[in-house]
Amino acid sequence: MVEGRKKLFGTNGVRGVVNESMSPELALRLGLAIGTAMHGEIAIATDTRTSNTMLKEAVVSGLLSTGCNVIDTGIIPTPALQYFVRERRLNGGVVITASHNPPEFNGVKAIASDGTEASSQEEGMIEDIFYSENFKRARWNEIGQLHFNEQAASDYIDAIASKVDVASIKKRKLRVVLDCSNGASCFTSPYLLEKLGVEFITLNAQPQGSFPGHESEPTPEHLQSLIKSVSALDADLGAAHDGDADRTVFVDEKGNYIPGELSLALIAMEEVRKSGGTAVVPVSTPSVVERAIASAGGKTIYTRVGSPVVARKMMEVHAVIGGEENGGIINPRMQYCRDGGMTLATMLEIIAKNGSLSSLIAKLPESHTVKTKVQLAEGEGHMLMERFRQSVQGMKRDETDGIKLFLDRGWVLVRPSGTEPLIRIFAEGDTEEQARKYAEEYVRIINELREKR
Ligand code: MG
Repeated sequence: MVEGRKKLFGTNGVRGVVNESMSPELALRLGLAIGTAMHGEIAIATDTRTSNTMLKEAVVSGLLSTGCNVIDTGIIPTPALQYFVRERRLNGGVVITASHNPPEFNGVKAIASDGTEASSQEEGMIEDIFYSENFKRARWNEIGQLHFNEQAASDYIDAIASKVDVASIKKRKLRVVLDCSNGASCFTSPYLLEKLGVEFITLNAQPQGSFPGHESEPTPEHLQSLIKSVSALDADLGAAHDGDADRTVFVDEKGNYIPGELSLALIAMEEVRKSGGTAVVPVSTPSVVERAIASAGGKTIYTRVGSPVVARKMMEVHAVIGGEENGGIINPRMQYCRDGGMTLATMLEIIAKNGSLSSLIAKLPESHTVKTKVQLAEGEGHMLMERFRQSVQGMKRDETDGIKLFLDRGWVLVRPSGTEPLIRIFAEGDTEEQARKYAEEYVRIINELREKR
């Protein structure tokens, strides 16, 4: 990548407000750049956002212009498109989605030929082509063809059902409340639940890109209807997906929202218990995950923050599970990417075999973490991190991503954001109060270093 140039791809593809920073012109140029980088046959999908058709048609136009053939799979979850790309041995994929962002946002995300999210190197290559405008232009008789395929959703559902113990799930006659957040999972998760033989009730299961039910980030504030419904309907489980359904969060049978690090800890522990082996998570992950994995005899490997990095490390070390603390879980039984449908099926399998979600969560170690951030001036981050690095010489630390300091009663991770001028501070303590104290202490230290001239 050219030094000093504005980065096009953020942590999750290219995103922006529709018709402002995310315009059809930009989408067209991205289509040209992606087509030039990938060649061959490319699948495309969208979530349910109101701007999807506008942006999709622009990307498709760019791809066809480079001579790529395009398969339009319609509205499906990001992991369903990823599965389609891998299974059909395509050259790559594109998803038009802004995941959990508000409805006025949209984005373009590139998928590699193995179905994983494009790596930063692959994104860098697309960026280079984008900025140099060195686009491949096919001759009139080599323009790509556009095909439609309506099979991707059912292929995906069948594949998930073939990876879990459906008989055990069916036997328990579980009752589930599912919140599709008006997103792409409307076309998959209700049918998946049907196939798994659970009784279910859906919320916000009409695909609608204005997100009338609630915003698509699955936080407890947004999931109040789900939380209330689970206890009112005497359900065994509540589940919600974000807009493109690569993530799933859960509500236990008592109506408690389960924080993502606890569902990750539980699923990772059970996967490791079954098959032994290694789990991969980013350095920002609360230690409850590592402790749960260790209790099942497994080892945890830490990576830089970002799901493509986690997925690639998992492939390298043959990990049995991995993921993020936001409900994005990567289960290689299905594929090497965050997969909301597979996460839902895996959790059903776990509670069918081991008992209620609240009882399983109660057995996990405690977790006390605090997240905060320090706003910076543009371009200040690098110098500040250098000063911080100097100031912590001699302390026990890990520099996989940012600087993680191991302290007497926990740890602190000080990490510059990849997309915004700010430093994120994650702290974990052996009590809630200790976690807060560590967070406050390091906010103060960073602010003092800023004032040093
Ligand atoms: Mg998402």
